[in-house]
Amino acid sequence: MKQLKKANGKKQQKKPISAEKSEEAMIGGIIEGSPDAVGVAVLRLACGCRKMAAVDKEGEPASKVIIYRDNSLNVCDQCKEDDGAYIRVRESFIHWIEPAPEPERQEIIAGKVFGTVPTH
Ligand SMILES: [Zn+2]
Repeated sequence: MKQLKKANGKKQQKKPISAEKSEEAMIGGIIEGSPDAVGVAVLRLACGCRKMAAVDKEGEPASKVIIYRDNSLNVCDQCKEDDGAYIRVRESFIHWIEPAPEPERQEIIAGKVFGTVPTH
């Protein structure tokens, strides 16, 4: 089903989130190992751990899901238990590889990647 709804002609402006320095290093490594990637989905968990995965132009995973914690060898106990459950995702965004896909394409990919993630 295709939905192209226009919300009163007003476009919802979301403030773009960008990668932090420590995340950029991780993103760079993921991109290097994922030749099909057009971007890297970054999920910031409430506990402080990060979950990342490369996505291809169809919005399919282009790498393994990586979960890590800054300055730590291991993720926290909670993540060990639930593998970084979506319910604990605090922020999520896609870091696009330059040149980034067209905005329409970005929306399709983001919808596919985050489609199952509850937004609040
Ligand atoms: Zn954690």
